[in-house]
Amino acid sequence: MVISKIQIIQWLEKTATVLHENRAYLTELDSAIGDADHGANMVRGFKAVLEKLPGVADQPIGNILKATGMALMSNVGGASGPLYGAFFMRAAGVAAAKEGLSSEDLLGLLDAGINGIVQRGRAQPGDKTMIDAWMPALAALQLALRAGQDLPTALQACVTAAATGMQATIPLQAKKGRASYLGERSIGHQDPGATSTYLLLKALLDTVSNA
Ligand code: ADP
Ligand code: MG
Repeated sequence: MVISKIQIIQWLEKTATVLHENRAYLTELDSAIGDADHGANMVRGFKAVLEKLPGVADQPIGNILKATGMALMSNVGGASGPLYGAFFMRAAGVAAAKEGLSSEDLLGLLDAGINGIVQRGRAQPGDKTMIDAWMPALAALQLALRAGQDLPTALQACVTAAATGMQATIPLQAKKGRASYLGERSIGHQDPGATSTYLLLKALLDTVSNA
């Protein structure tokens, strides 16, 4: 076991804090190519998650992630709510009754979660969405863990890949979501959802590294 249930809860709490700290930044990114609500959406969603956590903290990881997904789905108005909601609901299905995660569990959980986002949003790599951070992040984590690196080291590679993917959205033209309405005018701006995905993964790295 490399990630305990306590750490999963700490990760969700840290994510709420980090999103709160980056609220203005996410809003600024979304004001360039969207409707300036991504910061508010993520903060509202994770505030709802924080309110649910005490009620599920002594339950298996699957229940904790399911409560997280449901809180995001029902409290975020924007596209990102159902998409992050789908991520956590699918991840919950993989975590199920587990009280801790192995590195293979973590890979399976992220893979299922990302597939949930793709099934709901139908975005492909290069469409300038959160997928452009999630997919390289998972690939890097997989590579590092399979090469025998320990979890903090592998997660560092994962977060670095998420950051690179996030920055690589800047020159892309948006093909999905609200930003796609701008056509070529979406070029030259960093995708807000790819940025919140990077922050979420960075929060996981920081949680695991501080253990
Ligand atoms: P809205 O666009 O409804 O205002 P948000 O501003 O909260 O919702 O979220 C916008 C982010 O959601 C985008 O930056 C993008 O990363 C992500 N997104 C939008 N549509 C999709 C999609 N179809 N697939 C994956 N991600 C998407
Ligand atoms: Mg928006």
